[in-house]
Amino acid sequence: MGYRRIDGRAPDELRPIKMALGVLDKADGSAYVEQGGTKVLVAVYGPREVHPRHLASPEGSIIRCRYHMAPFSTQERKNPAPSRREIELSKVIRQALTPAMFLELYPRTTIDIFAEVLQADGGTRCACVTACSLALADAGIPLKGLVASCAAGKYQDQIMLDLNDVEDKGCQADLPVAWLSTTGEITLLQLNGLLTEDEFREALSLALKGCRQIYEIQRETLMNYYMAPAKELVSEVGQEGSK
Ligand code: ADP
Repeated sequence: MGYRRIDGRAPDELRPIKMALGVLDKADGSAYVEQGGTKVLVAVYGPREVHPRHLASPEGSIIRCRYHMAPFSTQERKNPAPSRREIELSKVIRQALTPAMFLELYPRTTIDIFAEVLQADGGTRCACVTACSLALADAGIPLKGLVASCAAGKYQDQIMLDLNDVEDKGCQADLPVAWLSTTGEITLLQLNGLLTEDEFREALSLALKGCRQIYEIQRETLMNYYMAPAKELVSEVGQEGSK
């Protein structure tokens, strides 16, 4: 048997993933993503009127994104006030999503994205990007493609995919990546720590492999959510027709 990690995974194995769409009634679009112990919930509103109005742009919609960790998301109560880290991650997540969007379609409007980390267990920014892209699709906002996100890193001298909290905290390097499925564009690439050039190549290719797998789950989740009622309707109409 090859190298096994603290949670029993192989180095190139993702944590178990669950996704759900349309989980909030009040939002225009919403999604929930669970990746191992990391749980995130995203709500999307818009395109809608911008307040304060001076922020509106005639060139297209603006995107406002808030990444926030719930006070109960970590073992020690996290201060609910936005930290420097949360402000940075809000910006990084917005930048990871923007290349997938047609902002020029909606001048003078805003698209507001709220990403709430319910439970933090490593890789929260990536789980948020994945969930945001699903929530945008759920809101009916046209996208160039889904954005899938996943990190790779180096822990105990081993390059591995999708670090959990223990690996994340003890890692020598962490490389979060986001990938726009239709164009293959990398829309997020951060490197925390040190990697040799060969290690960087290996980690990047592993992270992209993870993104492709996550994309397949996103696609399946969307198809099931929207196609299941259509299939039901077709079968109902079919049954009525044969009466
Ligand atoms: P990411 O969650 O995207 O990997 P970081 O690398 O900054 O972002 O954080 C790694 C992990 O550290 C988080 O997923 C979370 O489990 C934990 N963490 C982050 N901030 C806090 C905090 N304020 N208190 C406790 N744990 C935290």
